[in-house]
Amino acid sequence: MDTNSYSNDPGHVIEADRAHVWHHLSQNKVYEKIDPRIIVEGKGLKVWDITGKEYLDAVSGGVWTTNVGYGRERIGKAVGDAITKMCFFSGGAGTIPGANFAKMLIEKMPGLDRVYYANSGSEANEKAFKMVRQISHKHYGGKKYKILYRDRDYHGTTLGALSAGGQDERNAQYGPFAPGFVRVPHCLEYRSENGLTGEAYGAAAAQAIEDVILREGADTVGALCLEPITAGGGIIVPPKGYWDRVQEICKKYNILLHIDEVVCGIGRTGTWFGYQQFGVQPDIVTMAKGVASGYAAISCCVTTNAVFDQFKDDTDKMSYFRDISTFGGCTGGPAAAIENMKIVEEEDLLGNSAAMGDHLKGNLHGLMEQHKWIGDVRGMGLFAGIELVTDRSTKEPVGEPQIAAIVADCIAQGVMIGAANRSVPGYNNSLLFAPALVATKDDLNNITEAVGQAIKRVLG
Ligand code: PMP
Repeated sequence: MDTNSYSNDPGHVIEADRAHVWHHLSQNKVYEKIDPRIIVEGKGLKVWDITGKEYLDAVSGGVWTTNVGYGRERIGKAVGDAITKMCFFSGGAGTIPGANFAKMLIEKMPGLDRVYYANSGSEANEKAFKMVRQISHKHYGGKKYKILYRDRDYHGTTLGALSAGGQDERNAQYGPFAPGFVRVPHCLEYRSENGLTGEAYGAAAAQAIEDVILREGADTVGALCLEPITAGGGIIVPPKGYWDRVQEICKKYNILLHIDEVVCGIGRTGTWFGYQQFGVQPDIVTMAKGVASGYAAISCCVTTNAVFDQFKDDTDKMSYFRDISTFGGCTGGPAAAIENMKIVEEEDLLGNSAAMGDHLKGNLHGLMEQHKWIGDVRGMGLFAGIELVTDRSTKEPVGEPQIAAIVADCIAQGVMIGAANRSVPGYNNSLLFAPALVATKDDLNNITEAVGQAIKRVLG
């Protein structure tokens, strides 16, 4: 090894990054002109880059992950202890952190029973899709194989998950996709196309799901996969009554309800899970980001025993779930998840998410009064978005370059915010906020202040 290849010197790190790292979600050509941002330290909601610049992070590590905030030594210690004693074991054997976290998690999810470990949100969703397909083969002669997903929802980056992807621009260059995934309409009341509002809009959106089921044939539909609140698609909170109706439809046609809690799971909306805000009872729940707040890679696909038991036939050698996730056997993930969950409980971060979420929404409504460009404010708990339009009556969306300029202006002010990263007309116009659940009123006031200034500078 070249002894000069490892160094923490800023110049060395920036050049190593520029020369060899392929950044996610970025047009990497920009790093030919500007230095890549290297984040080196964090505490609470604050992070520092390698040049020493401080930021207030309103997007929990860029992608809504660090729910308990940065710099939690006790999580680091728990991971260190777990991996020093027994780093990994998989392939049919369990581990102490794996068993303990599964028990803790299930206590927060009445009606669910089993935890299947994986490493990313996409992977957890793939597990769910494979369960649905195998149940179809085992119990329905392979006929109940279709998986319904919703316009604007996102379930991950792998080809199976993209096949269930409701964001066309993310899918555009990666087809062909897996067959058997069928789209149902979105539930964004602000962009209602039928003139309905509130509960009537929600009822019509749920009815649209039933219409798709009837068109496809209910006996061909195995599952409906939805985000509780659409996240990257623009923070879409369905109106009251929508979820009740969705649950009824799934029951009526014997369709498994799979809820993707990759973003909303572990307190983001003010309850342990987003679905708990709506009183629904899913059959399958997938989760990832907040499970260990990014301190280790872990995701979970959680099911009822009614699902699990369908894989428990010892007279049929094909009946068990023929799946593995090698790193689902790492102990660092569940060890981090245990500490993460304890922190959420001890510091009442659910309560803080709910209360601070109300404060954030109040601030955003205040911004709306000052800026005619804000057409809608949406969210629940510490998960909020504003939709920017050029004209409130036509709802013509503000363009992608302006959205990018607002985000860049906030960053220059030392505040990191997110944007719905879309390039389809009518879509790419939301700013997103999902700070760590430890956020205070001061943090949220600073974030809102920066956003207001950025909107004024960019849009006038
Ligand atoms: N589901 C949802 C709702 C997501 O927002 C994401 C990621 N942003 C995923 C799944 C995929 O998770 P991952 O990137 O960990 O594969």
